[in-house]
Amino acid sequence: MIKYLYIGIDDTDSPDGMCTTYLASQIINKFGDNGIDLVDYPRLIRLNPFARHKTRGNGGVGLKILNDDNADIAKEIVLSEVEKLSMFDCDNTNPGVIFYDGEITSEMREYAFRAIYEFITIDEAEEFGKSVGCEIHKFKKGRGIIGSIASISLPLTDYTYELLAYRAPDNFGTKRQIDYESVYRMDDETFPDTFENIDYSQDYIAIEPKTPCPVLYGIRSNSVESLKSAKAIVEVGEPIDDWCIFKTNQHTDMHIQNASKISDMKQFGCYCVCGKVKNKPAIIDGGHMFFYIGDDSGEIECGAYEPTKNFRKTVSCLRPGDVIRVYGGIGEHNTFNIEKFQVIKLNDVEYKNPVCECGKRMTSAGKGKGFKCRKCGNKIESNEKVATKISRKLKNGWFYETPVSARRHLSKPLCRMF
Ligand code: ATP
Repeated sequence: MIKYLYIGIDDTDSPDGMCTTYLASQIINKFGDNGIDLVDYPRLIRLNPFARHKTRGNGGVGLKILNDDNADIAKEIVLSEVEKLSMFDCDNTNPGVIFYDGEITSEMREYAFRAIYEFITIDEAEEFGKSVGCEIHKFKKGRGIIGSIASISLPLTDYTYELLAYRAPDNFGTKRQIDYESVYRMDDETFPDTFENIDYSQDYIAIEPKTPCPVLYGIRSNSVESLKSAKAIVEVGEPIDDWCIFKTNQHTDMHIQNASKISDMKQFGCYCVCGKVKNKPAIIDGGHMFFYIGDDSGEIECGAYEPTKNFRKTVSCLRPGDVIRVYGGIGEHNTFNIEKFQVIKLNDVEYKNPVCECGKRMTSAGKGKGFKCRKCGNKIESNEKVATKISRKLKNGWFYETPVSARRHLSKPLCRMF
């Protein structure tokens, strides 16, 4: 039987530089020099979006190779590259590497989902890793082992690919030289096979990172072929030192758990849940928009934050009585941060004063005294308002999502849903 060696790497970068995927691509190159081939694409696995110590998107890397005579050389390469390239000066950078030479078991798969849904401590990860036979390497506090074990273990029942192009080290930290026109052309020619290239609502080039990391650009796609076509279209004014395609759980909604009722949801979890809009969404200082949804079990405040820009306009079209399904996560202030929502049933009925025989809408004649017509003086005794169908901008059954610039790595865009 063929045996494999799985390699997990995480927590090597800092806000000032480096990227675990870059480190992985350097390792893969060294593997190549030593005749070691990867089995399948390297994996870029996004974990709990609420993990406290994340640098950016809480991503770990998993590699798989044959467990043959070269396995020891592979281990040496991995450990020496992690030693060489990790941002050890940053307090928050605590690399962790694991090697595992067995089959991925169901308990490892469960662990990986826990790393997406919950918080795991370093001790817990270490104990778990040892219990399944992982070889564990901790650098400084070694927090990275939490994500490393998950990165090799997560079943990719749904996945996408990301092509990452890397800069020459001399250019790290300088302004990226990307020809934006060519990015528009690339999007035009390859969307929806590639996606999240551009946020058209803000003319924002989403393939370009905004941090000083080694990545020149990252293109996301459902297929490797379209990534290669896209790369051929994007023009840059600086050398591409290296590039690498990762298989990833980005854009799969793997972080979203189905909650059958509002009270089942916990803080720092990501869910989709149905509820009835309780009040008209309102904007507060800072530009954040909030409203409540409720069901028989309770209610929760939902937020569309300022960075979601025009999405707030869509949210503002909701009205009390609308039934919606929201997708997102419960953050620090116990507010449900909406990533997208589906309209289940619009409340398209408004109760209005009756219309007089003369055609004019009547006004109240006083509390409990019915209605009167200001124009012709007509009066009616009934206090009952009349149900009137109103037109709505939102549509039943439709989904509405945050713009590309404000979207989580794990969020499934609508272009992947239908
Ligand atoms: P990059 O994507 O560039 O690697 P990052 O945003 O992923 O940066 P990391 O440097 O990987 O940030 O740091 C995230 C840390 O959180 C890692 O140490 C990882 O092991 C840990 N971690 C991941 N998932 C969990 C979890 N569910 N509970 C607790 N810690 C976690």
